[in-house]
Order: sequence, then C-alpha cells, then structure tokens
Amino acid sequence: MIPATSPVADNLAETTYDVILVGQGLAGTTLAWHLVEAGQRVLILDACEPVTSSKIAAGLITPITGQRLVLTPRYDEFFAAARAFYSRIEQRTGQTFFHDRVATRLFKSDDEQQNWTVRGRRPEYQAHLLDPQPAPLLDPDLGNSGSGGFAMHGAQLDVALYLESSRVALEWESMALDWQGDVTLHPDHISVGRHRARRLISCEGYAAACNPYFAWVPFNPAKGDILTVRFHLPVPPHCLHRGIWLAPTGEPDIFRVGSTYDWENLDQTPSPSARVEIERKMKDFFQVPYTVLDHHAAVRPIITQSQALVGMHPAHAHLGYFNGLGSKGSLHAPWYAGRFTDYLINQTPLPDEIDICKHFKP
Ligand SMILES: Cc1cc2nc3c(=O)[nH]c(=O)nc-3n(C[C@H](O)[C@H](O)[C@H](O)COP(=O)(O)OP(=O)(O)OC[C@H]3O[C@@H](n4cnc5c(N)ncnc54)[C@H](O)[C@@H]3O)c2cc1C
Repeated sequence: MIPATSPVADNLAETTYDVILVGQGLAGTTLAWHLVEAGQRVLILDACEPVTSSKIAAGLITPITGQRLVLTPRYDEFFAAARAFYSRIEQRTGQTFFHDRVATRLFKSDDEQQNWTVRGRRPEYQAHLLDPQPAPLLDPDLGNSGSGGFAMHGAQLDVALYLESSRVALEWESMALDWQGDVTLHPDHISVGRHRARRLISCEGYAAACNPYFAWVPFNPAKGDILTVRFHLPVPPHCLHRGIWLAPTGEPDIFRVGSTYDWENLDQTPSPSARVEIERKMKDFFQVPYTVLDHHAAVRPIITQSQALVGMHPAHAHLGYFNGLGSKGSLHAPWYAGRFTDYLINQTPLPDEIDICKHFKP
C-alpha cells in the first residue's frame, strides 16, 4: 500500500492519486466529491462523449413512481442524503442545481385510480402529498386531468449543470480508458499511463458491461429517448407525469419530455418511433402547442437485479466498481457514494444489498 502522505507519494505528487475514477457521469462525479470530502486525492478519467445517460437525464426525483404507484423503498433516507450532498456541492461550486419541484401524477386508467384509492390513504404515502391538493390538478387551458391524480413533493437535479460545475472543481483528464491496454496491475497499486493510484474504480455506466474485469456483472440496460420542447403558452415550472413526464428546464416554457424504454436497440441514436410515442402520450392529455427543439437518446445502466452495486473486485483488490444507477441515479447516487466512501476510508462494511461481491461472482 502507498499511503498518500508517504515520501513515495510526495515525490510523485503530480502523478500519484489515492483513487482514479473512470467516468464522470452521476456515479463518478458523486463518488469523487465524497472521496475528496474525505481527504482523498482523486483523478477522474472521462471519455468526454457529447451524449451520455447523465448528460441527457431530466434529473427527476419523485417519491411515488411507476404504473403501480409505489413509494420508492427507503425514499426518505435516500432523499435526505441527496439533499444534504447536493446542497454541500452547491456551496462549494457556487452553482444552484438542486430544485424542489411539485410533481403532479395524473391517472391514465381506472386501474391506476383504483390502485391509488387503497394505497394513497396510507400515512407513508400521504406524507409526500401536497396538503391541500391543488384544484384543479392541471389548468384546463393546458390539458385534461381526466380521471384525476395527485400532487406530491419532488425535486429535480439539473444534472448537466452539476456535472459541468463539478468538472471545473475536480481534477480530471479527457481519456477513453482501454482497460486491457492502459491499465497495469501491481501488487500494491495500479498504473494508468503516467498516473498511479491505490485504487482504480469503474464508474462507466452502461459501458461497464464491456469492462473485462467486471464482465461477470449482468446488465439489462434500457435505451431512453427524450425530447426538448418549447411550449407556445406559459406553463408553470412543475413536473407532470402521465405515462410520460414533462420536466421544466429552468428556461421559461422549455421542457424535457420523456422517456421511452427500449431493451433491444442499445445505441445512442435518437429513434423516430420513440419520438412518435413520446409526442402521442403527451398529446393524450396536454394540449399546449409546441415545437420540438431537440431529441437525444442514451442507455440507462441497469444491472439485472435493478439496483446499483458497489465494491472492490474479489481477485484484484485495487479495482473497484460503482455502476447500475438505472432510472433513479439522481436520487440514489449520493447515498451509494456515501456508503462506498465509508467502506473505502473507514472499512465500514458495505450493506449486503449493494455489495457487488454479495450478488455476483467472477
Ligand atoms: C432519457 C433518460 C432520462 C433519464 N431521466 C432520469 C431522471 O429523470 N432522473 C434520474 O434520476 N435518472 C434519470 N435517468 C437515469 C440516469 O441518467 C442514470 O441513472 C445515470 O445517468 C447513470 O449515471 P452513470 O454515471 O452511472 O453513467 P453515465 O451517465 O453513462 O456515465 C458514465 C461516464 O463514463 C464515461 N466512460 C465510460 N467508459 C469509459 C472509459 N472506459 N473511459 C473513460 N470514460 C468512460 C462515459 O463517457 C460517461 O461520461 C435517465 C436516463 C435516460 C437515458
């Protein structure tokens, strides 16, 4: 082991790190900040692709989601970690990227409505609802709230701004790492070109499925398409959900609208049929004239068990992993990064449910 403060480290100060992270998406950026807060010297290597899952994500954080209207397990714990973390990084960077948002969920079927009449009465669900509920839920000049719905307290991370402002503050280098060609494993450290570190951690998103050291972690990734639209009437800056979602951008009347799930075509090419699907679902309930300004697609890093995993490689003690943030990266990344940092710095055992070694074997 090379402690960061050893003479060796001091002599090689410009090239020696405690941790090198591969990937500057939500996972890599959030882990980097936690490690820096813990006093670690961190370098991020990032391929600087113009489109990635994190760069196009809407950053929505919503307590009650999905067709079955389920409260995200341990939402309060994840949300508290997320709010505290993003607020600290806002202070460090001088930028504001975490916003409280009202999220209105409209029912798209009688089944959903019936489901909610039972579930929505529970105190743990009620705690997330606006009190009193707005009436009407959707201004009839904008659209049709049909079979009703509910308004809840949510939040939104401006992911692109979070990544950009973090990049200014963190140490990083533009590099598409080739794990076989660029990485050398030594008994007590790893080296990547002229850099050396005690640990090298994959935060590569979906690309981790091709990482030769972690190919044993099975992925079930899903491509998502998302549109940016300008509405031609004033629309309040709330999130609206009904089969798809409309999310404000901070620019008046410009919203992100998405998204689709495609498990077959795992590429970043915007799909015309996905655009048709998004526009059809939007026009089903939202009648404001609009212009599509752009259309992007990226692949969500979903691990087969639909939960992110962290930890060190069972046979290569210097290689680590933080991937699989799936559809809820903005909510989950800070809590996971916190647990992983505690493990790396203080040897606090990882909770079984997020420990890569407790789920899969090489
Ligand atoms: C359309 C869409 C909408 C979404 N909306 C939301 C939302 O509203 N709320 C939410 O919470 N989540 C949302 N998500 C999911 C969210 O985007 C993901 O959870 C999150 O982006 C995953 O972050 P990541 O860092 O793991 O992966 P990525 O964002 O893919 O980042 C990986 C990074 O690593 C780099 N990289 C990969 N391999 C290498 C290598 N070998 N060398 C160097 N660099 C490398 C990549 O270039 C990239 O920068 C959405 C996703 C999509 C596609």
